[in-house]
Amino acid sequence: MLVFHQISVLQEHLKKLRNQGLSIGFVPTMGALHQGHISLINQAKAQSDIVVCSIFVNPTQFNNAHDLAVYPRTLEADSQMLDTAGCDILFAPSAEEMYPKLPTMKFDFGALETVMEGAFRPGHFNGVGIVVSKLFHIVQPDKAFFGQKDLQQCAVISCMVNELSFHLELVICPTQREEDGLAMSSRNRNLSPEQRAIAPFLYQALNYAKASLLQDKEVSEVKTELAEFLKNIEGIELEYFEISDFDTLQPFHGTLSQNSGGGKIALCIAAFLGKTRLIDNIII
Ligand code: AMP
Repeated sequence: MLVFHQISVLQEHLKKLRNQGLSIGFVPTMGALHQGHISLINQAKAQSDIVVCSIFVNPTQFNNAHDLAVYPRTLEADSQMLDTAGCDILFAPSAEEMYPKLPTMKFDFGALETVMEGAFRPGHFNGVGIVVSKLFHIVQPDKAFFGQKDLQQCAVISCMVNELSFHLELVICPTQREEDGLAMSSRNRNLSPEQRAIAPFLYQALNYAKASLLQDKEVSEVKTELAEFLKNIEGIELEYFEISDFDTLQPFHGTLSQNSGGGKIALCIAAFLGKTRLIDNIII
């Protein structure tokens, strides 16, 4: 695997590959890699000639200095994992390389970012929009691979790709979970053993809520039930639980049998375990 730290050197190399007619699959990450990331690499390998993975802990998408400071950074181990997985190119720029000066431009995703992550992490999706658009321009991939685990991020990037006519295809890949159901996440490394033991309750809670919705209970009742369930688990602080239209991410009301449009419904949760914030979602 080739490793690049500089934009211009990477671009020079990618230009040669593109001129040979090779297709490029791109997996942007913030590192501290786990099997969830590797599942994206595997998808990229299956669908492209060359796989590029980026590792960059993007400061502009953190609205919380503590979260940025403790975000795990494990470049050496990540590099080995990528090599073993058959990734062709790792792009690991410094913050100075990506941002010689902080961008003044702003992304506004409208209603897509007034809910959930956007509401609780002001400025987060502006930072995501900036870094992902920069990375798309640098790598110019044919396909880019993202995880459904970050559902709202997928919606925001899909909006950006469509509205700004990025010439690439987005591929959304399913959430990879630990055996006990916990969604894999770099942040899981920051959990204490006690917190790790209760973390799977988030996925369990989502599944209880799904079962209640399938019994045609009202959204408001299901939301109350879930909040009550998690209140009984010491160490988990619910931040939000939303039942939303999958396409618009706007709140869904009523019961499933009243879902006249028949579109998919997303159940999305965010919670703190101590200072570690975890998110998860499932789709009906
Ligand atoms: P991150 O490094 O957390 O920014 O994630 C990089 C990419 O990996 C994003 O597209 C995430 O949605 C995706 N990802 C993170 N966790 C998982 C998971 N458990 N399963 C599948 N994809 C994931």
